[in-house]
Amino acid sequence: QLTSKDYVEYIKRAYELIHANGDYITELDSATGDGDHWSNINMGFEKLVEEADRLETLNLFEEFKEIGKIMMSVIGGSSGVLYGSAYLGAAKTLKDKDVITSKDLCDVLAAMLDAIMARGNAQPGWKTMIDSLHPAVTCFKESIEKGLSEEETLALVKKASVDGAENTKNMEAVRGRATYQANKGLGHLDPGAVTMSYQISTLMDYAL
Ligand code: ADP
Ligand code: MG
Ligand code: MG
Repeated sequence: QLTSKDYVEYIKRAYELIHANGDYITELDSATGDGDHWSNINMGFEKLVEEADRLETLNLFEEFKEIGKIMMSVIGGSSGVLYGSAYLGAAKTLKDKDVITSKDLCDVLAAMLDAIMARGNAQPGWKTMIDSLHPAVTCFKESIEKGLSEEETLALVKKASVDGAENTKNMEAVRGRATYQANKGLGHLDPGAVTMSYQISTLMDYAL
């Protein structure tokens, strides 16, 4: 179970992981895009950490809306808009909730996926952040249906997000800057999928 304060603690941990991988993520976005993805997302998380004291006093619904607004305005680029929409979409699933259970967490990630797919008009397999989030959501839903333990479920979801990001190496971009490359990014991981997997992994570890 995660309270609004716990969620801010998760944000701090995700920031540490993102912050520590600057060279790697910048290299990935330089190979397939314009090289700014790490700097965009790192700035967004840095701002969230700065706002931690204020965010943790909000209820989950307001907290998620605020996170969305900050991400949309600070991250910028395609990913800023998509994360902004993701958090606004997820906020709606948390109305009147004081804690996020693992079932709620599944609904949160599913709402983020729906919002990102609606906003960006992209599908799974198009070499984007969706390719980490979509397998994670599918795995989360299946694990709950199968009645797996919370521990097993969260570990499987984490793995699905990381494997999903890894699989973008063999995908060709359909939208976005990587489509300008002759090989459409083939052979390179998508930076947005990798930073998405960092966030999901950290969240699954922390929720345990
Ligand atoms: P920009 O491409 O504007 O420079 P970023 O570098 O911050 O923005 O983000 C790039 C990442 O955003 C990509 O690696 C990809 O994962 C994700 N992305 C881009 N377009 C879309 C889209 N339409 N749907 C989902 N994700 C997308
Ligand atoms: Mg970029
Ligand atoms: Mg850019």
